Amino acid sequence: MQNMTEAIEPNRQAPYLAARLECPAISVIVPIHNEQESVAPLCEALFDVLDSIGRPFEVICINDGSTDRSIETLREIAKERNELRVVNFRRNYGQTAAMMAGIDYASGNIIVSIDADLQNDPRDIPALLAKIEEGFDVVSGWRKDRQDAAIRRNFVSRVANGVISKISGVQLHDFGCTLKAYRREVVKDVRLYGEMHRFVPIYASWMGARVCEIPVRHHARKFGKSKYGLERILKVILDLVVVKFLDRYLVKPIYVFGGFGLLSLLISFLLTGFMIWLKFFEGVSMIQTPLPLLTALTFLVGVQSILLGLIAEILVRTYFEARERRAYSVRDTINFPSA
Ligand code: UDP
Ligand code: MG
Repeated sequence: MQNMTEAIEPNRQAPYLAARLECPAISVIVPIHNEQESVAPLCEALFDVLDSIGRPFEVICINDGSTDRSIETLREIAKERNELRVVNFRRNYGQTAAMMAGIDYASGNIIVSIDADLQNDPRDIPALLAKIEEGFDVVSGWRKDRQDAAIRRNFVSRVANGVISKISGVQLHDFGCTLKAYRREVVKDVRLYGEMHRFVPIYASWMGARVCEIPVRHHARKFGKSKYGLERILKVILDLVVVKFLDRYLVKPIYVFGGFGLLSLLISFLLTGFMIWLKFFEGVSMIQTPLPLLTALTFLVGVQSILLGLIAEILVRTYFEARERRAYSVRDTINFPSA
């Protein structure tokens, strides 16, 4: 079934969700970008595991602008298995947007995310679910024996995970592992941008969710190639700064910008005083020192920061107004009952 929608507005989804007849207990979400060889074996492995669990489920594949035959393969499988649902993006929006769409479209009480490239093992899903049953809200996979290039697997990734743990206060070994399970309530309201899908446990924990991690299997990539290089680490660190900033100061950015601006102005005034003191008591001419330049610079920076803070305050208000907007546009969907 295809519905050609330009963009999915939020209020389209609410009635659709309410109108659902059977409500799957488990929604598995899979971001897919050029994984044509993996799609069929992945679906097979997922159905094997999920069938054996014996609870209603859905598998939501988000085709994130693949240029290979991924979508054709998905269409074929979707004809046979009604549990396979496909969200087909118009273009490549990135893994985070794909995960966000998965969460938006999921109707299960438990949401499980997994990579499409067969590096995660669907056979670990029951263990994740068991932890959720135990009462945890987020269960994160830990690729204890990671099968990626040595430099990424060992050093850089370890440092990055350490930094993220430290800054966020959430102790996990492996934020980057896509294989995770969430209770629906803790993820339904998060909005994800940039590379932030890996920070969902952080948001959730800040909101009071109980987070735990279990070791999961990890396999080397058999088909296709990784979509990322080392530059991802930088993006992740910057995203973390944003997350931390948004958490603390989203509602009051003027405190950050204005605080810095006032500090800069204060320095400017102190320098002016010093300059005058030098001239009248030490007889040092102002232009013999770099002080006039520094005074002007700190003064300007101070004023600019405060003005930036005001702009940020305006932006924040816009943000809250426009918050319901989606960060992606969907071409069509498969196997979703129409609104
Ligand atoms: N992916 C995606 N959109 C992108 C890049 C990646 O949906 O722009 C998917 C990809 O198909 C895979 C998952 O995200 O299912 C993880 O990507 P990848 O395996 O390349 O990352 P790595 O395992 O190297 O960290
Ligand atoms: Mg991978």
